Amino acid sequence: MKYVTEYRDQDAVKGIAEKIKETAKGQPINLMEVCGTHTMAIARFGIKELLPENVKLISGPGCPVCVTPNHYIDQAIALSREPNIIIATFGDMIRVPGSTSSFEKEKAAGQNIQVVYSPLDSIELAKQNPDKEIVFLSVGFETTIPTIASTLLMAKAQGITNLSYLTANKIVPPALEALIQGDLGLNGFILPGHVSTIIGAKAYEKVVSHYHVPCSIAGFEPTDMMAAILDLVEQTVSNDPKLSIKYRRVVTNKGNLKAQQAINDVFETCDAEWRGVGVIPGSGLQLRESFAKYDAAKKFNVEVEETRVDVGCICGAILQGLKTPGDCPLFGNKCVPENPVGACMVSSEGTCAAHYKYGN
Ligand code: SF4
Repeated sequence: MKYVTEYRDQDAVKGIAEKIKETAKGQPINLMEVCGTHTMAIARFGIKELLPENVKLISGPGCPVCVTPNHYIDQAIALSREPNIIIATFGDMIRVPGSTSSFEKEKAAGQNIQVVYSPLDSIELAKQNPDKEIVFLSVGFETTIPTIASTLLMAKAQGITNLSYLTANKIVPPALEALIQGDLGLNGFILPGHVSTIIGAKAYEKVVSHYHVPCSIAGFEPTDMMAAILDLVEQTVSNDPKLSIKYRRVVTNKGNLKAQQAINDVFETCDAEWRGVGVIPGSGLQLRESFAKYDAAKKFNVEVEETRVDVGCICGAILQGLKTPGDCPLFGNKCVPENPVGACMVSSEGTCAAHYKYGN
């Protein structure tokens, strides 16, 4: 309790807010968070309301479920319709709409779709169902990927053959480069705390050295985020871009080397499609050739329907930071968490869900 109180100290937060206002001196400054947990925390703690009008926070593509394109969902749904396949997935994927269906609808129609809490559960499912094929939906950023990689290493070591992974894993640094080259006029990035714990601060060096964009790695409590925002405002005003860690109780420069090794043992980088953003070179992780027999896309040949995108849903523009949920005519009426139209309203870390929940 003391821990939480310390990082939510109202006087400390107000003090940092004053410093941000004094330092920014009316200069327009656009900062982007690229982490769904930050998006949710910013809405929950009212961080935007604490900032002067000229310091703007923009939500980026920080929610792995939200950035997963329709084609992937459609492919997984097609697999779920195969009679001998059991789909294993994290719960936040269940209601994400594909082109014409969702896992929730498919489950109601009788397909065998199981919600798991860890990739390790997919091994248990494979052992419990030796006459079935288990397909795990491998969707996540660097935070989740080490556990997925470790699970595959275990499956291989145990000689499990009825388990495969349909991958849509993403990595953050190449996405930052793509965002910098967009039209947002970004002055800095609030970088994700959890992802940075794994990849370390060094993974972002190019953003500062090559693109000269200020970067600050932040935690998820109000003083963490406010300290990172002040840091980015100071860097912008002094025109002295740096890569700083404002979450030192967890993040180091090198990151978690064991987790990085597990990722590297199993995956290699590939180009990947992000919903709304398009294909970003080198921003995905696919299974290495030595794990090809665990690749569901190679193991099963299913017909996938033609991709369609919801008319009226502007998730794509929201994920690029070009629009906000308030710009969407469906927000809060046709599209609500109980009946989501787009992925940004489904996921607990989606920008639309955050705005709906906290009335931002
Ligand atoms: Fe899409 Fe719903 Fe967000 Fe509109 S409110 S952009 S329909 S998820």
